[in-house]
This record gives sequence, structure tokens and C-alpha cells, in this order.
Amino acid sequence: MEPLTASTLACGQCGASLVFEGVRTQTCPYCASPNFVERPASAGRPDPTFVVTFTGDDKVARRQLESWLGTRSVFSDGRIKRARVEGLRGIYLPAYLYSAVSHSEYSALIGEDYTETETYTTTDSQGNTETHTRTVTRTEHRALAGRFIGYVNDVVVSASAGLPNVELDAVEPFDLKQLRRFTPALVAGWITEEFSREAPECVELSRREAVDQIGGKLRPYMPGDSFSDLQWKTAVQWESMDPVLVPVWVLAVRYRDDKPPLRVVINGQSGKVTGDVPLSVWKILLAIGLGLGLIVAIIIAATGGR
Ligand SMILES: [Zn+2]
Repeated sequence: MEPLTASTLACGQCGASLVFEGVRTQTCPYCASPNFVERPASAGRPDPTFVVTFTGDDKVARRQLESWLGTRSVFSDGRIKRARVEGLRGIYLPAYLYSAVSHSEYSALIGEDYTETETYTTTDSQGNTETHTRTVTRTEHRALAGRFIGYVNDVVVSASAGLPNVELDAVEPFDLKQLRRFTPALVAGWITEEFSREAPECVELSRREAVDQIGGKLRPYMPGDSFSDLQWKTAVQWESMDPVLVPVWVLAVRYRDDKPPLRVVINGQSGKVTGDVPLSVWKILLAIGLGLGLIVAIIIAATGGR
């Protein structure tokens, strides 16, 4: 059997450098730009330590894409639907897996419920007053402050030039229990992107995600029956960043040169889909036109055509 030859292609539009083994595409899988040229692999990029592998093939991904497109509005732009068959590509996306110990100082207003019996009077139609009792629930508030030490170990941020972190966030989470130590054989035959974003930039993004996560860990930890005004300040320690590859399916459609591409992204492990499918102006105008036509027809019918 002839060995597969790997080649690196770089996109002049989004800057992604993708390594192809055996397979080739004419346009960038992230942005559909035709400005996609061969160049030598770049030196000094980190090698992945771990990989989350794809759980299904392209047939599975196309079914997920079709059922997601089926849930979009009838007014969606038809161009993205027509492009689906050829355009969907599986890519091992470079990312960093961040972990740290977090020290947080928090404050909140804790509500404790208690019940009281109160009396009230009613007057009937004869003017007799009667006294009754009822049980009411009241809340007492007290301020709470404290320290919370936690371990953050599941923050994943994009190190891809082609796919910004917000789009990766939208298809997360990945099941990190399925993380495997990287070997080239695990990604053989797939497109892989080189690590493109610098580690310091990814550390910043990771810290922000980690601090946001603290809120989710503090909320169930609050005592009392209710709470409000939860605020926290977090410092991180013992940070670590592991380069990982995560599986994504990407469908990019370039419909106008001066517009960014339409893009649908699917988590290659869980099948979660995200994307911005724009509405078609023509379909909306047609619907408004038909609606107006119907109203005019009703008015004519109601007035007997006078
Ligand atoms: Zn591109």
C-alpha cells in the first residue's frame, strides 16, 4: 500500500493552517475561501498531549446537520441547505485544556424563611365581624461572606485560527473522561489544524471561563432558602495548560465575497450543533406580500367589493 502523504495548506482569509493526509480540498473548510495554498508545515508549534476522538463518521454528522436544519425557520436562506452534502468536513481542532486551583472570596444575601400566624377579620353582609388566623411565610435576610477553594479542570479554549472560541463554546461540552493520550494513529485520515493561537492569549480566555464557572459552583453551595447579590473575586493558582485536539464538523458556505461565511459547527463527539442560518429576504417579502394580498382580499370580500 502506498503511504499517505501529508500536506499543509494555509488559508489566506482566516489564517488556518491545516494538515491533510491523503485527502485535499480546494477551499478552506472553515471559511470556504478559495485562497487556500500549500506551504511547508510551521516549526515550533506545540504537539497535542491529548485527543478527544470523533464518535461517528460523516454520515452520522450529515444526519445531525439535516435534522438541525429541519428545525430552522421556513424563512431560512436556502443556500446553506443546498451546500450541505459536499461542504461538511471533520477537523481535529487545536485547543487548550486548562486546569487550576481557584481561591474565591464571595458575599451574598441569604434568605431564611419562617412562618408566622397572623389574625385578620372579615365582615359579612349582615355587618358581623369575625376574627380568623392564617399562617404566612416571611423571609429574613442576613449577609454572608466566605472563602471558597475549588478545582477547575474542564475549561477548553480554542487555539484555532479558523474557529473562534465563542463558536467552540457553543458546541461544548466535550466528555473529557474520553480523553486519550495523543498518537498520530488516532487522527490518521482526518484533517488536523496546527496550533495557531499563542498560549498567553489562551490562558487569558481560560481564566475568564474559569472565573465564570465559579458562580456555578458557588450557587448550590449557598445556605438558606434563597439568596441574592452573589458576588465573588477569584484568584487562580497551580495553572496548567495541555494542548489537546477536539473533533468538530464544520460546514462553511461563502455566498458573497464581502460577507463572512455562513458556518454550522457540530461537536464531533456529542453531536451538538450551532450555527447562524440567516433568514432569506425574498422568502420574508414573499410571505408579507401574500399576507397583504390576503388582507386586501378579505377587505374586498367584507365590503362586497364596493
Ligand atoms: Zn479559511
